[in-house]
Amino acid sequence: MVMWSLAAELLGLIIHIILILYYHERRLVSNSRRKIYQVCLWISVLTILLNIVCVHMVTKPAVVSHGVNMLLNSLYFILCILTCSVMAVYMFALTLEHVYDKRCLRITGRIVLILNIIFWGIVIWNLRSGVLFYFDENQIYIRGPLNRIGYLVMAIEMLMLVLCYMRNRRSVSRPVVRLIRTMPVIAAICIVFQHIYKDLQLNGMFMAIVNMVIFISFQTRRSEVDSLTFIGNRNSFFEELSLRIASRQYFQVVLVCLKQFSLVNEKFSYKKGDEFLYNIARELDHILPGAKAFRFGNVEFAVLLPYATEEESTGSLKRIQERFEERWELGAVGSYIQAYFTDVIYRGQEWNATQIIEYLESGIHYAKKEPGGLRRFDIKLLEQLNRRKRILDIMETSIRQRRFKVWYQPVFNLKTNRFSSAEALLRLRDYDGEPVSPSEFIPLAEETGLIDDLSWIVLEEICMLFGQMRGKIDSVSINLSMQQFEDRSLSGRIHECLKRSGLSPDKLKIEVTERVLLQDMDYMKMIMEEMTGEGFGFYLDDFGTGYSNISCALSLPFEYIKLDRSLLVRLPGDSKVQVFVRSMVETFHAMGQKIVAEGVEEEEQIELLRQFGVDCVQGYYYGKPMPEDEFRAAVAKGWEEQRR
Ligand code: C2E
Ligand code: CA
Ligand code: CA
Repeated sequence: MVMWSLAAELLGLIIHIILILYYHERRLVSNSRRKIYQVCLWISVLTILLNIVCVHMVTKPAVVSHGVNMLLNSLYFILCILTCSVMAVYMFALTLEHVYDKRCLRITGRIVLILNIIFWGIVIWNLRSGVLFYFDENQIYIRGPLNRIGYLVMAIEMLMLVLCYMRNRRSVSRPVVRLIRTMPVIAAICIVFQHIYKDLQLNGMFMAIVNMVIFISFQTRRSEVDSLTFIGNRNSFFEELSLRIASRQYFQVVLVCLKQFSLVNEKFSYKKGDEFLYNIARELDHILPGAKAFRFGNVEFAVLLPYATEEESTGSLKRIQERFEERWELGAVGSYIQAYFTDVIYRGQEWNATQIIEYLESGIHYAKKEPGGLRRFDIKLLEQLNRRKRILDIMETSIRQRRFKVWYQPVFNLKTNRFSSAEALLRLRDYDGEPVSPSEFIPLAEETGLIDDLSWIVLEEICMLFGQMRGKIDSVSINLSMQQFEDRSLSGRIHECLKRSGLSPDKLKIEVTERVLLQDMDYMKMIMEEMTGEGFGFYLDDFGTGYSNISCALSLPFEYIKLDRSLLVRLPGDSKVQVFVRSMVETFHAMGQKIVAEGVEEEEQIELLRQFGVDCVQGYYYGKPMPEDEFRAAVAKGWEEQRR
């Protein structure tokens, strides 16, 4: 009689118990793949236990009846094949995880089911025929001619897995490829061992090794799972996109960016805030058939969806938007959480995952500026994005190669009838020599922080110009953005720059817009008062646009108020604008402030401005912005001659 050794089976059982304990400790969002794995673990345990029982009974023929032995061994045969089949289905699910078309998975599932049914038939047939196994008159276990047929079923399933992999190779992730390659090696090692140690029961150990490899490779991939929401993180989102693109599967990605989520944290505590994020992630993960959610950023979620038609994708986006119009419940508390939305549709374009992520980021950037908080990524946005990238690139190279130019526009003093000062304006050219408008590159420079470098370029240019034109010009003004005022060493740095050219602070006038002031009025007041005390002069730029908050203009130490071009354009034909401008001039004069009118192009405007008592005029009528050498030549020739 064969004496089976159960040492390996017992070890296999222990490994499975450890795996089950670790598996349950993890709070992963359950998906069908994880459910299959759970079934895999439990069914393996059951098979091992049954094997242990069977081996014990076979060795005690006197105690157990022939019928019980037959029944338990038949059950063991069925469970063995069922365990392998569940493992195979798990691996099919892994292989086809990134494939939207689930037909292949359905077909393989059906074949596995049919194979199992046939096998059950053979097991039942075996009760009479003994083709698999039987017990002789001494109750000794004897192998039948088809005893190894289970291996055939396993081989067919393996073959199907390989075919599945070959067919969808482009969309199979690298860890899965590794697993598919590892499986035959594990099987071969087990077969060799079985051959050497014939009395060793190895099935349970084989299952334990396979389940362990799967656990290590796919169930504990912390680097790919977000630790708060337990959905995929940005890395796995990138990988998923890459695989879908590689296999040319069309998809839609909706990016959801929560609006002012810090308020939720403040209202309910950070812990509750985390729970809200967890719930949102879970719901987004199941919001539509085939949806898969990823944590894209702290409060950003990307939902990957299969793409079929334009209408369907619009509907999917709407469904996600609508969810954020409803309340998010969390036990006894609940909250409305608003969000910004964008989506990118991939239909086989020559894009890679990095580009799609960039498009999503740009879409959400523009969505934040839209009243409805939604901006879909389309061809227009793509052009805008490319233009933006080009300008950024030009700016960076221009800073490096010092290709930025500063032009000067003269300012004419109506009181003294002479050119008194100038405004320094930045000029940038495209690689093909075409000028790029400051209204296009300045906002981008402000957004990216490049404005700081640019402002220092302008300041240095102004200082150099002043050094060479001493006495010929009263002052030059420079435009500064909020970033510069945030730098507490601003006035010190300007002082240093002026000192190098031997200039006093009153030669430099600083232009700020209301937009800058409104960002932090109290802070700006403090800085301006400090700098005015040191001798610098401030101009309020673009007055007449935006809020035109008069109290802001009056309460801050402005030397000059610059009336915007938009007001001046309407001046000749509009009596209401005339009344407004006249009263503004009177008010500011009464407060000891002077006026510059900007963008003056016609004689008629000048006449009116003279009548109203405006101090200075800047505009094409007196001179367009010009390059430094032209400006110097004009000053040298005498300003008056330059007029017209
Ligand atoms: P701004 O400070 O209001 O500058 C005046 C703008 O009006 C200039 O446009 C100038 O060329 C234009 N302009 C002057 N007179 C006339 C006129 O008679 N008719 C018309 N149609 N336009 C006139 P530019 O140079 O395109 O600058 C646009 C804006 O870019 C500036 O508006 C300013 O806000 C910003 N900017 C320019 N240079 C700098 C800089 O060095 N730093 C910062 N922070 N912003 C700058
Ligand atoms: Ca200005
Ligand atoms: Ca202006």
